[in-house]
Amino acid sequence: MIRLARAGQRFVSPLVLAASHMRKASGGILRFYIDRNNRMVAAEAKRYPPKDILILLPHCLQYSECGIRVTGAAANCRRCMRCKIGGVLALADKHDVGGVRVVSGGTSARQAAADANPALIIAVACERDLSSGIADTRGTPVVGIVNVCPNGPCRNTDVDLAAVEAALETHILNGGFLCEPDAGQQ
Ligand code: SF4
Repeated sequence: MIRLARAGQRFVSPLVLAASHMRKASGGILRFYIDRNNRMVAAEAKRYPPKDILILLPHCLQYSECGIRVTGAAANCRRCMRCKIGGVLALADKHDVGGVRVVSGGTSARQAAADANPALIIAVACERDLSSGIADTRGTPVVGIVNVCPNGPCRNTDVDLAAVEAALETHILNGGFLCEPDAGQQ
């Protein structure tokens, strides 16, 4: 069933890629694609060592008045908590996640993923960037979390930290075993 679903997802990916480039693409369609992708990744029931997980964040998450350069250098964040970059970094520390990268767009997201070569990516972005990133990524599972834009697009955006932590808890391997469902381990 999972193989079938994966094949279906691959089949619709070019359509989603095309839709994500259309200015008026329906956010509902893209969100459906992201949700379906996330359910498929979860259905595989694989868990990953936290060090093999990369979290990608969009630079629009950063508080616009913050003068610190965090794009490509998330460790510079002082965690003042005026934006959720500090909160995600705290979660990453709590769960011992391998890396957090703040990226300026699809190209730098792909570069960050190539550099880190993670086993799993948890990506925060708008529907458009997430769906094209998921459709574009081969081999590495991506869990997508849509950010919200209370201040208009691409400015002081926000993300639900509980959703980020839930994604981590769903996919992180605790206890040092590689929990493959086939091996009957949890
Ligand atoms: S949490 Fe980090 S990135 Fe956000 S405003 Fe504070 S220092 Fe800047």
